[in-house]
Amino acid sequence: MGAGATPAAGGAGLDVMLKGKVAIVTGSTSGIGLGVAEVLAAQQCDVMLNGFGDEKMIAALQARLHRQFKVRIAYNGADMTNPDEIHAMVRATRRELGSVDILVNNAGIQHVAPIEEFPRAKWDAVLAINLSAPFHATQAAIPHMRKKKWGRIVNVASAHGLVASKNKAAYVAAKHGLVGLTKVTALEMAGQGITCNAICPGWVLTPLVQKQIDDRAKDQRIKVKEAEIQLLSEKQPSLQFATPEQIGKMVVFLCDPAADQITGAALSMDGGWTAQ
Ligand code: NAD
Repeated sequence: MGAGATPAAGGAGLDVMLKGKVAIVTGSTSGIGLGVAEVLAAQQCDVMLNGFGDEKMIAALQARLHRQFKVRIAYNGADMTNPDEIHAMVRATRRELGSVDILVNNAGIQHVAPIEEFPRAKWDAVLAINLSAPFHATQAAIPHMRKKKWGRIVNVASAHGLVASKNKAAYVAAKHGLVGLTKVTALEMAGQGITCNAICPGWVLTPLVQKQIDDRAKDQRIKVKEAEIQLLSEKQPSLQFATPEQIGKMVVFLCDPAADQITGAALSMDGGWTAQ
């Protein structure tokens, strides 16, 4: 059991109590980030949401999570391509929620094209959001974690942080870089109560992957379901998607004292993808 005694209301089926902790989850208006934010909130953690989306949708999301889990849910619209906005988001989290204990660097984008056709602007954007943003957020959050002698930094990398696929030069480079950043952060924080780990999911059915499935269905003139099965069978031996909730539960586990000595690790959640 973590710091508290009772399992969280809303029950994510975990007994790690995060009451009194504050998490920033970047890119949490959709997909994996949203799943992570929900599981953290279910464990009584206050959460700073971030990411793009319609104002009304974001307000409704904040209200729902607050109602469901009785925790404080704030939102900051920092653009992860902008280092000043990232630092400002960390300051706003301290101001509005009182602390920054857990940082989940999750926001990410994808672009698929062969190297010779890869647009320069897309290369820059993928590197900025998937790799530089976690660096800036980590740099901004660390001083607060040091003061409290406790912190958890979780970088959502990918199976593509460990192995490559064709036509994903920027994404694979950024995710390999993120695994490297994770190791350096872990070494610099070692012994100070602050851990840093990367989670490396295989396919997770989110809007980011749905687009790749839809593109494949269109290109090959096949049904979306068929494209989905093709995508899984090329890489993921389980032939099942990982879920945002499972990734959220891994983040929560990394916040438990049981994980105090897990740092600098790249933790695969990929149905066997990188075991091959
Ligand atoms: P998604 O498209 O569903 O969500 C991405 C989130 O990032 C959204 O909230 C979006 O608003 C936000 N975002 C995008 N650009 C931003 C910017 N400039 N500033 C702030 N926020 C921004 O994607 P997802 O599949 O949930 O991916 C989340 C993370 O998981 C990414 O880092 C991705 O690389 C990684 N990942 C995904 C999969 C998968 O199969 N879906 C697998 C491995 C790793």
